[in-house]
Amino acid sequence: MDKRNKRGYFGDFGGRFVPETLMPALEELERAYKEIKTNAGFWEEFHALGRYYIGRPTPLYHARRLSEHSGGAQILLKREDLCHTGAHKINNALGQGLLARNMGKRRVVAETGAGQHGVATAAACALLDLECVVFMGSVDIERQSPNVQRMKLMGAEVRSVEAGSATLKEAISEALRDWVTHVDHTYYLLGSVVGPHPYPTLVRDFQAVIGREAREQLMSTYGRLPDRIVACVGGGSNAMGIFYPFLDDPVSLIGVEAAGKGLGADTHSATLVKGRPGVLHGTRSYLLQDAHGQIDPTHSIAPGLDYPGVGPEHSFLRDTGRVKYVAVDDAGALEGFQLLSRLEGILPALEPSHAIFHALFVAHDLPKEGLVLVNLSGRGDKDIHTVADYLSKKI
Ligand SMILES: *Cc1c(COP(=O)(O)O)cnc(C)c1O
Repeated sequence: MDKRNKRGYFGDFGGRFVPETLMPALEELERAYKEIKTNAGFWEEFHALGRYYIGRPTPLYHARRLSEHSGGAQILLKREDLCHTGAHKINNALGQGLLARNMGKRRVVAETGAGQHGVATAAACALLDLECVVFMGSVDIERQSPNVQRMKLMGAEVRSVEAGSATLKEAISEALRDWVTHVDHTYYLLGSVVGPHPYPTLVRDFQAVIGREAREQLMSTYGRLPDRIVACVGGGSNAMGIFYPFLDDPVSLIGVEAAGKGLGADTHSATLVKGRPGVLHGTRSYLLQDAHGQIDPTHSIAPGLDYPGVGPEHSFLRDTGRVKYVAVDDAGALEGFQLLSRLEGILPALEPSHAIFHALFVAHDLPKEGLVLVNLSGRGDKDIHTVADYLSKKI
């Protein structure tokens, strides 16, 4: 059906670069996913939970004061920040939770960096009565203690990972290792459009609900497609989710990465803007790596963007030119955060604050009648201390 995705490749990107021991598990997952793709009952349950548990459809909100501030086009926010657990990640966690249950797996393992995917997975597992183990770097456990508490309160076990930099990259490696050893009854619930085939495809398909809803809302309210769509890119799931249903339309798509403290060495996470192709966590994609193929340290003020890889479909969309990728630094993200808070009374997460900031320039360059759709992927409650610290230091 989807030619670009034949055998799990998007052009030269994607694939399945894993140890032999994982191949049967990935093949089993691929078969199970093929089966549910055309299973109407599965999607009915997915959409019913979306409606009554997550709170979908999320509103398409016309940010009038933010639009005025841009001096140009109208800015529309897809309000994924209003999803249960506070971000788009629950769409994927519930979809894969249902898939795990369908496959007869009673135990779920997941990785988490800032804890957002861990919280979404813990919620989905509580709801679906699945055992839940979340791997998290010890440094992140320290930094993100409210999310660790949330996961535990919902019945998940949080396992500390001490290896390497003790952050997200090591947590993913550890979750993969656990999966290999318990594969008969364990499901690996991956949090973004990364990893070996079929994860980039199935996570995208669960997140595409964002773009499909936005398209319907645009058509019924404005009677037309938007001129531009802007979304932040960490692993790339909220961006793929909103872009995917518009790929064949005359709409320009813009992914915003984190330029951190600047695009010099080790101070950013702008994988598609500054990286080179390579293999990480089972997939071939753009990567931040040194001349010897060692993974570079990364930085972003937004924990969800702080990852040296990116989903393989984004690498393909970059090279074909279908999507344009840019980078916004920490200071820009903080300005986006403050503008949305003050002009609209909405505290955005620091991740989509990068997209908000860039969208102001995009809107500025269009006439008043133009429409710029921005994916507001999550709410900012988790980030208020980071923002307050930064602002007090600055003053
Ligand atoms: C995790 C997260 C992201 C980054 O992940 P993607 O897979 O790139 O979407 C972006 N926004 C929020 C609010 C997040 O929690």
